[in-house]
Amino acid sequence: MRDYHDFLGEILISEEQLQARIAELGEQISRDYAGEDLLLVCILRGGVLFLTDLMRHVTVPHAIDFMSVSSYGIGARQRSGQARINLDINTDIYERNVLLVEDIVDSGYTLEAVLALLRTRRPKTLRTCILLDKAERREVDVPVDYCGFTIPNAFVFGYGLDIDEYYRNLPFIGVVDLEKYESA
Ligand code: 5GP
Repeated sequence: MRDYHDFLGEILISEEQLQARIAELGEQISRDYAGEDLLLVCILRGGVLFLTDLMRHVTVPHAIDFMSVSSYGIGARQRSGQARINLDINTDIYERNVLLVEDIVDSGYTLEAVLALLRTRRPKTLRTCILLDKAERREVDVPVDYCGFTIPNAFVFGYGLDIDEYYRNLPFIGVVDLEKYESA
């Protein structure tokens, strides 16, 4: 994998902006779930940095679990149809407050599939906390209960989001310059 400086278009959201907004989200979630039990369900792999930073700001007692859902890569920018569940949670969510923690919502198909599956298990509440919302790309209507940032239609990477599985570790959200990326 090349140095990301070769294809970084711009830094869309800085580390400081991310951390400030995530602290606010954590405080809001802590207020909304005060006195309630809470389970945070992180969608792998993109949501993992978001989860670990967010949970430090969630002051109500909470458990965590993970799911993995197939999505698409930059080489195949076309949606591949139905989302596939690769890894399911281990936790019984019947009558529990479940908050899904996801990196990004684009068309909405992934979130729709995950919500449909979890709803069949009859949680007490089921809400979503999304770091990045590409609202203008939405194809199916999905609820975004907590939103970090609404972003324009661009391919982004960093802070959990990959470019061909690399650079999830970057502390900021960058935009891929597709021309530069594909010309190498
Ligand atoms: P959706 O099902 O909403 O169309 O897509 C959601 C999934 O697509 C996300 O979980 C993420 O894995 C992937 N995705 C969508 N947009 C981007 C993007 O700009 N960058 C990266 N790295 N992944 C994206």
